[in-house]
Order: sequence, then C-alpha cells, then structure tokens
Amino acid sequence: MAITRRELITGIAKAGVPAAVAVTVGSEVLKAETIPVPSAAVGLLYDATICIGCKACVAACAEANDTPPDTRGDALHQAPSDLNDLTRNVIKLYKAEDGSEFSFAKRQCMHCLDPACAAGCPFQALHKDPESGIVNWSANECIGCRYCTITCPYHIPRFQWVGFNPRVTKCELCSHRLAQGLKPGCTSVCPTGAVIFGPRPVLLLEAKRRIENSPGRYYENRVYGETDNGGTQALYLSHVPFEKLGLPELGPESVPAKTLRWQRRFYQYFALPAVLYAGLVQVIRKNLKGHEADAHEREKETGLRAQL
Ligand code: SF4
Ligand code: SF4
Ligand code: SF4
Repeated sequence: MAITRRELITGIAKAGVPAAVAVTVGSEVLKAETIPVPSAAVGLLYDATICIGCKACVAACAEANDTPPDTRGDALHQAPSDLNDLTRNVIKLYKAEDGSEFSFAKRQCMHCLDPACAAGCPFQALHKDPESGIVNWSANECIGCRYCTITCPYHIPRFQWVGFNPRVTKCELCSHRLAQGLKPGCTSVCPTGAVIFGPRPVLLLEAKRRIENSPGRYYENRVYGETDNGGTQALYLSHVPFEKLGLPELGPESVPAKTLRWQRRFYQYFALPAVLYAGLVQVIRKNLKGHEADAHEREKETGLRAQL
C-alpha cells in the first residue's frame, strides 16, 4: 500500500500519530504526488523596470476584493507597508544602502505550479484549480491551523488574528472578476503596463521578447518563475537581483518536492524503530508464553507432589 503526504498528514490530524505511523510502516513507501500541469494556466507578469511605484494597483486590489482600505500605517492614505489581513497586493521599495540602485517590488501570491501552501494544508483549504492553476482558499475547509503561512516560501498567506472566524488573506488572481470576463483589479489600472495578465505561456513569451529586445536591461536575462520553485504563474522581470524584490533563489525543484525527499528519509528512519519495536514485542510475547508454560508445568508438579 502507498499513501500520499496529504493522506499521512490528514491521518495524523484526524486519528493521531500512532495510527499514521501504523499506516506508514505498513506502506511500501510514500508515493510521489504528481501535480497535474494546469491545462489553461493564467498568471501575472510584473516588470519591475517599468513600475513607477504609484500604488494604483494596491488600491485597485482592495476595491476589487471589497476589502476596507488599509490605512493603519497612515491614516490618510492606502499605504500598507506589507501584505496583511487586509492587503493581498503591496508595492515595496528596495534601495541599496549606498543609493546606487533602487527598485519597486510588487508582492502578491505567486500561484506556484506546485504550491507548498496547498501541500502543507491538512484539509485542502488551499487548492489549485486544475484548469486555471489559480490557488484559492476555502473558508469551509480551513480549521485555522496556519500551516500555510509557515510552508509558503514567499511568506504570502496572512491570517487574521481577530474575530471568531479568522480568514486567510492572499491574492486569488481575482477569480471572481475573471468569471465575469474582467481582468484582475491590479492589471486593469496599471498606467505603465508594469503588471499584465494573461495565459502563462503568452506571458512567458512576452517576458522573453522584452529580454531579447533590451540586452543588458534585465538581471541575468532571466524570467523569475519560469522554472524557479518548480515554476510559478506570477512571473517577474527585474534589473536588480530577484532576492532584492523578496524572491528567494529556490532552484528549479519545488519546495513540496524537496520536502517530500526529506520526508521519505525521515519516515524511512522513523519506520526502523517501529519495526524493531514490533520485533521486540514478538520476542516478549514468545518469552511470556514460555514463562506461562513453565508456570503451568510447575503448578502441575506442585499439585502432583501435594497429592502424594
Ligand atoms: S506563493 Fe505561497 S501562497 Fe501563493 S501558491 Fe505559492 S506557496 Fe501558495
Ligand atoms: S490579481 Fe487581484 S487579488 Fe491578486 S494582486 Fe491583482 S488585484 Fe489583487
Ligand atoms: S499600478 Fe503599475 S506602476 Fe503603479 S505601482 Fe502598481 S505595478 Fe507599479
């Protein structure tokens, strides 16, 4: 029998560690989950070299998602300094210490092809649409464990810390607007075209066209998200290292794929003590039977002596 990571985690959450261990030990090996590539993947392309930091996209995002303006840091303006429970999209500023370079950085969910938030969620409250590839959150399945906030390598999902029924806040690519034939809020207002929406393959071609047309303009002539972290549906172009925009260098293997490798090793070694323990139980049982048989014999002997 083979089980998936999700079945294992759900087993732990629902039935407790011993039950999950029993299932794991009984299974051949944790089978790899094959993540289907979305058939009609859509996404965003953000080009930091033409973003002017106007934050029109931040206000448009709040309006499109019907969230109250986040004026907690600045009572007069919609100027959140980071993603938070009211903010799905933020514009940050990177500035070198010596002032030699700077860049704006748009941050929202990357809609990873293999999303770590969904892999880490024990109840599938975060799930990737098999067609569009949009990673959505469902309030009905969420139990508020906050695993998704820990597993996401981009530190995107944010949780409400107030209220009886707290919510996860993250960009869901304005699915509700797409369903009405509209573009995402952020892409519909950007005055420079720094963020655009479209099918992922088309966005990738556009990014490569820009790189080819402007030699030396883009960092490493590379599109972040083409292969990084297994590929993402939000793609980035930049003139400064991607890490300065808050995009870590994760390599081509997705975070869930990496952790699965470690999980395999962990359970391999986790299984060994369990097998030894099972062997020990058998030895103890055998010895107990031997002792019982001896005692029975001794009783019989004692009884015989008493009768003599
Ligand atoms: S960026 Fe984070 S929240 Fe968004 S899909 Fe990837 S893992 Fe999930
Ligand atoms: S796609 Fe929608 S939810 Fe996501 S950042 Fe843009 S406006 Fe906000
Ligand atoms: S609206 Fe466009 S130019 Fe203005 S901050 Fe957002 S991405 Fe940058």
